[in-house]
This record gives sequence, structure tokens and C-alpha cells, in this order.
Amino acid sequence: MKEITCKLLVIGAGPGGYVCAIRAGQLGVDTVIVEMAKPGGTCLNIGCIPSKAIIHAADDFAKTVAMAAGRNAMGIKADNPAIDLAKTMAWKDGITGRLTMGVSSLLKKAGVKIVVGRAKFRDGKTVAVETETGEQVIRAENIVIATGSAPVELPMLPFGGKVISSTGALSLTEVPERLAVVGAGYIGLELGLAFAKLGSKVTIVEALDRILPLYDTQLTQPVARRLAALGVEVLLGTKVKGPSSNGEALLAETGSGEERRIAADRILVTVGRKPVTEGWGREELELDMDGRFLRIDEQCRTSMRGIYAIGDVTGEPMLAHRAMAQGEMVAEIISGKRRSWDKRAIPAVCFTDPEIVSVGMSPDEAKAAGREIKIGQFPFSANGRAMTLSAEEGFVRVVARADNHLVLGIQGVGAGISELSAAFGIAVEMGARLEDIAGTIHAHPTQSEAFAESALKALGHALHV
Ligand SMILES: Cc1cc2nc3c(=O)[nH]c(=O)nc-3n(C[C@H](O)[C@H](O)[C@H](O)COP(=O)(O)OP(=O)(O)OC[C@H]3O[C@@H](n4cnc5c(N)ncnc54)[C@H](O)[C@@H]3O)c2cc1C
Repeated sequence: MKEITCKLLVIGAGPGGYVCAIRAGQLGVDTVIVEMAKPGGTCLNIGCIPSKAIIHAADDFAKTVAMAAGRNAMGIKADNPAIDLAKTMAWKDGITGRLTMGVSSLLKKAGVKIVVGRAKFRDGKTVAVETETGEQVIRAENIVIATGSAPVELPMLPFGGKVISSTGALSLTEVPERLAVVGAGYIGLELGLAFAKLGSKVTIVEALDRILPLYDTQLTQPVARRLAALGVEVLLGTKVKGPSSNGEALLAETGSGEERRIAADRILVTVGRKPVTEGWGREELELDMDGRFLRIDEQCRTSMRGIYAIGDVTGEPMLAHRAMAQGEMVAEIISGKRRSWDKRAIPAVCFTDPEIVSVGMSPDEAKAAGREIKIGQFPFSANGRAMTLSAEEGFVRVVARADNHLVLGIQGVGAGISELSAAFGIAVEMGARLEDIAGTIHAHPTQSEAFAESALKALGHALHV
């Protein structure tokens, strides 16, 4: 096969890689992207998008079940709800299919050449790709490593059979009667809540003494209450030991040394994700590492000239929008523009029930950084729109410097609050002060009014509480 030469080669077409390639193509950079699975990577195929589709379907189903049971204050009635999970999965696959096709056509529109196969470095400028029709050698001036991440496997619970990863959970065609979830991070909780709503008896086992350890308890309490209301048992401070000898249960040990036998038809292991740093010829290169991740600088340059790395392979937070922002920046750098990482915050969203958003510093983080702060918190129970949506649980909280009122962080928990993450992000990114947020007219009736009210509260004069 004829060797390809190009200015930019991107390895991996997840959100980091495909955005980098599209932007580079738009800027006229001669670009090739290699992908061994499907365009869109983890996010579009087995991560963000399919999980949110299943969460939405589970929500709709749970609401219908509640209506059928007469638990509906609005007077809506329903009869005998049922779910055909195979059909739900087909609907979800339709969405991911449309998106991955969209990515391919955007790449083509930007003039990017797509090579399908596994890429492996031969040296710092050359990559060999195993394609269906043989080996394709690609020589590039610049190479971007965007190989992403994969689920972490527990030695006592290797994936296979009953033991599934998030990928397996997102392709089940029957609702498991009993589902054990190992790990109470955002992926475990999002999927655990969804399957509880679909009708599974869910038990969550977490080694730490709290759920969602990256968020403070004020933010996680509404989620804990919802888990309890759905009948989900959460075993904190509990370590899994492995499957029982007959394979019908998960064995675990609580903090007090008590052995627990959790009957389970499926065991979903969501104990984190690991960067994909093997399988693409790292051994042929001399790349510095930062713990388990590839080390990068503020321009996503690795320790080797002409080799960049972006996305999950480069560190936390392993989130699609971080990967995309890095991808866009690197494309511009390679095209000759002066860019470096100057973001103040990367929003984090848990699509739990209710949803959690965090942008910038939490009160604890601000205090730990030695800041004198003002905090304003406004509950959705005092927000008219939230009442009309039956979504009064939760609040918006703003954290600002006490001296000049510069907003350091904004957090919130509540139904649909993920959509407020943009407003929170813009405020932090643009250096808003409390007065800017309080002085912006927020449309009525919207949940976003809670944001303006939280700023007013921090200023000492909230109007609706
Ligand atoms: C269940 C779940 C839910 C999630 N929900 C969210 C969410 O709501 N919001 C959010 O921001 N993030 C979410 N994430 C995380 C998000 O999916 C990742 O942060 C994001 O996909 C990282 O993008 P990336 O480009 O770095 O890598 P990836 O998306 O992992 O893509 C890497 C690509 O590289 C390819 N590749 C690897 N090695 C090679 C090779 N040698 N040759 C060719 N191709 C190769 C892979 O096939 C893959 O397609 C979720 C993840 C999971 C699992």
C-alpha cells in the first residue's frame, strides 16, 4: 500500500481526536485520522450519549409507572406500563448511529482523510495502521495521540458473563431482575438509578464511605434521598470480594467486617476508567508520564517534539468537553496560531436524579486555597418554574471572593440543572462578579432565576426567600 504523508495525523476519533481533525481540516491543514472502532469514540458510542438516552427512557418509564400507581398529583392516569428494553436499545443505537455518521461526514467535509484500523507508532514520525486490506504506513510532521480510556477491571471480578462494564450495561436487552453495581462514582450512579427506574432491584457497593466522592455532601444528599426512595440499597465502606461459588451472588465485606451476599443477575463494575497508554507502540517512543497518564504541557505537547496528546489519555477530568477543547486548541497550534490552555474551569455534570453541576471552586476548595468567601444558596423549592415541573428538590450555590465578589465557583443540584452549566461556565470564564449575575435579567419563569437569586443571596438581599 502506498505510504501516506501528511502534516497532521490524529490517532483516535473520539471527541478529542475528531474535533482536532475537523478544526485542522477547516484551517487547511493536511490531516489524516485513524480510528480502529467507530468514529465518535467512547462518548458517542458507549459513553455520554447512549447513557443519557437510557437515563431519559428510564425517567419516562418511571414517570409512567408512578402515574399507573396513582402517584401523580397532576391527575394524569396510565394503565399497565411496560418496557421493551430491546426496542429502547434499538432507539438508542439509532441516535448513536446518526451521530457517528455525522462525525464521519463532518470529517469528510473538512477534507480529512479517514483510515480505519489500529495505529501503531514505528518512530516519532511514522505510524503503521493495520487495515482490513493490509498495512498502511503514514508519515506525519505532527501526531496527536487521542486514544482515550477504557473501563478499569477488578481482578476478582473480570468482565465476562454476568460481570459487565458500562458498555455491557448499555447493550442489555432485558432488564436484570437484580443488579449489583460496584462503585458509586457518576457512571455507576447514573446507570444504577436508570436500571432502578426500569424495574431492577439495585444494590450499590462502594468502598469509600460516601457516594460521588468528588462532590460535597450538600450536593449529593438529594441523590442519596432519591436512591432510597427508589429502593436502591447503598452499601458504603464495603469491599467486594468476588462472585459466590455458585455465581449467583456478589460477596462483599462491610466496614464492620460483616459478610454480605448480594444476589445478582448482573454485576456492573464501574470503578473508574484508565487511560489507553498501551497497544499503540508507546514503547517505540520516549514519552514522559504523569502517573498513569501521558504528560502534557499547556499546549498539549508531550515530551517529544511534534507529538501531542489530548483527552482522557492525558489526565483528569476525563470528560468529553475537555477532550474537545484540547483538540480544537491543538489543531489551531499546528496551523500556526498562538494558543495555550487558558480555561478557568471545566464544568462537571452528573446526570443522576437529580442532576449535579459543578463549575470552578466549591466552598471547601476555595477555603483550602486560602480565600475569604461569600456563599449564596437558593433552593428550587422557592422557584416557581421548579414547582411547575415538580422539581423542587435542590438548589443553586454561588461561591465568590468576599473582597471583590469575583465568582470563584457555582454548583447546583436539581432536575434538569445540566442545562444551567453553560450559564455557570460563562460566568466563571468571563470573570463575572456577584453583581453581574444579580444584575442580569433572568427570564421568568425559569429555573435559571435560582442562579440570579443565589447571587442576590450572597449579596445579602435575595428576593424570594
Ligand atoms: C458510560 C459513560 C458515560 C459517560 N458520560 C459522560 C458525560 O456525560 N459527559 C462527559 O463529558 N463524559 C462522559 N464520559 C466520558 C467520555 O466518554 C470521555 O471523557 C471521552 O470519550 C474522552 O474522549 P477521548 O477523545 O479522549 O477518547 P475516547 O472517546 O475514548 O476515544 C478514543 C478513540 O481512540 C480509538 N483508539 C484507541 N487506540 C487506537 C489505536 N491504536 N488506533 C486507532 N484508534 C485507536 C478508540 O477506538 C476510540 O474510538 C462517559 C464515559 C462513559 C464510559
